[in-house]
Amino acid sequence: MKLSVIIPCYNEEKNVGLFHSEFCKDFKKYKGEYELIFVNDGSKDKTVEELKKIVDKGKNIKVVSFSRNFGKEAAMYAGLREASGDFVSIIDADLQQRPSVLLDMVNILEENDDYDCVCAYQDVRREGFVLSFFKNCFYKLINKISDVNFVRGASDFRVFRKSVKDAMIEMHETHRFTKGIFAYVGFNTHYIPYEAEERANGNSKWSFKSLFKYAMTGILSFSTFPLKIATYLGGLTILGAFIYLITALVLKVKILTMMMFFLITFFSGIQLLVIGVLSQYISLMYDEIKNRQIYIAKEIFISKNYKK
Ligand code: UDP
Ligand code: MG
Repeated sequence: MKLSVIIPCYNEEKNVGLFHSEFCKDFKKYKGEYELIFVNDGSKDKTVEELKKIVDKGKNIKVVSFSRNFGKEAAMYAGLREASGDFVSIIDADLQQRPSVLLDMVNILEENDDYDCVCAYQDVRREGFVLSFFKNCFYKLINKISDVNFVRGASDFRVFRKSVKDAMIEMHETHRFTKGIFAYVGFNTHYIPYEAEERANGNSKWSFKSLFKYAMTGILSFSTFPLKIATYLGGLTILGAFIYLITALVLKVKILTMMMFFLITFFSGIQLLVIGVLSQYISLMYDEIKNRQIYIAKEIFISKNYKK
């Protein structure tokens, strides 16, 4: 059995070398073959130089280096396209996800023919109350309005069979939400809890704003419910208008003039909101229709003894 390990890297100059040595230490026990696919997602620091050092001294390593930062989603997609193993896995470069846990996951997959994917989910999250609250809301909402099932806390830290990888590559949308794509393609997934470690070096690349944008991509890519809200709001406002008309005819008092201003502003707000929702979907469609590359690889480095 051959295992392909995909490692997306953005500004991880201090972590990639450490990751490589930790990985080799833990995977000494692994009896199968493996390849390491580092995807340098347009890092602005010395990540490429560090990766070149690893390629020179290590074995079965491939580095795909992007022309600019395309995001972790694009980096994972590039890794999937390069992976040639019977098993494929995705793991972060910052050692928050331990290679030893990955080895346990690989063993579970090897021992259970009926599993197609082993996914690690964070049992205990080391994050603030506000972030945790919003993440909870996101999972509750998306599970209500989407046809696919999202497991709370399920990460991209997974090992899966080639069949899963092939299905994922077939989904080549520009705005990628890999957690949703995993849920969409289905297959028999076994979930195991894990506790994320502290980042080895550097800071997380995710701000609250980028997480919010990412959550919006997830909702818009896997649900058309926001479009239906427009229809419901339209019906409600028509009903409201009729109630207003009847009250105005019956009461004929001055307060209704004041209410009219309120209602005009209120309905204008609703109209703009609905147009806003429509625009979100149109902008997604616009990007998908352009069908541009999800990433552009500038260079590929391969270690000397690399076996395809
Ligand atoms: N990453 C990437 N491209 C990006 C942002 C992040 O390839 O634009 C990589 C990053 O180097 C790391 C992984 O994705 O290996 C997870 O990123 P990070 O640690 O910032 O996320 P967090 O663990 O905080 O969710
Ligand atoms: Mg991290």
